[in-house]
Amino acid sequence: MQRPIIPAKTGDDGALREWLGVAGMMHQLRVNALAKLHFYYSAMNAGKSTTLLQSSYNYNERGMDTLIFVPEVDDRYGVGKVTTRIGLRADAITVKDDFDIYRHVREDIATNPNIKCVLVDEAQFLSQQQVQQLCLITEELNRPVLAYGIRTDFQGEPFVGSKYLLALADELIEIKTICHCGRKAIMNLRTDETGGAVREGNQIEVGGNDLYVATCRRHFRLGEAVNSLVPVE
Ligand SMILES: [Zn+2]
Repeated sequence: MQRPIIPAKTGDDGALREWLGVAGMMHQLRVNALAKLHFYYSAMNAGKSTTLLQSSYNYNERGMDTLIFVPEVDDRYGVGKVTTRIGLRADAITVKDDFDIYRHVREDIATNPNIKCVLVDEAQFLSQQQVQQLCLITEELNRPVLAYGIRTDFQGEPFVGSKYLLALADELIEIKTICHCGRKAIMNLRTDETGGAVREGNQIEVGGNDLYVATCRRHFRLGEAVNSLVPVE
């Protein structure tokens, strides 16, 4: 075992670093720098919610608790749930427009310090303020935040939440999926029941009969959602 080297005089940074030792520095780095805001982005139906629940499970498996948030606007499967197309589901804390995510997490950690990670599904629906609250969670509470969302709406316009996540996140991770042509799908084409492209309407269509198909930029422009016409048996 290496003997610690005592710094010769105050202000001798090189010797001081050695004296602290690598282990001590690594601990400081973990404490000071590791909590990051991660934005996992993709087109629709790429498996974001599945990835989210897997990440949460990984923390739980190691004995750590997580908090899962979901904006209230996404009520496809009922309010306050993360539900995946492959059948996984979990309860989530509902986020309304005026909800302060930072404050909620801070108060929960005060009673349960074992909360080690914050996850947000459908993060495109967050407000600018709420994205800033996610930044605060990493900076002031030192907890990593994993946010999952799509970048653009059916008209190719950026969602507010995604705009600020793309601007502010420490890490941007793309979850890839493909268009019917084989190119990477990056757009979300809204179609009616016959597969025709829908170009007008509200950004958020709650309870409508419209469908979404992930397409490449070219097939988004052409309005061709070939796969939506294939009946699912
Ligand atoms: Zn395509």
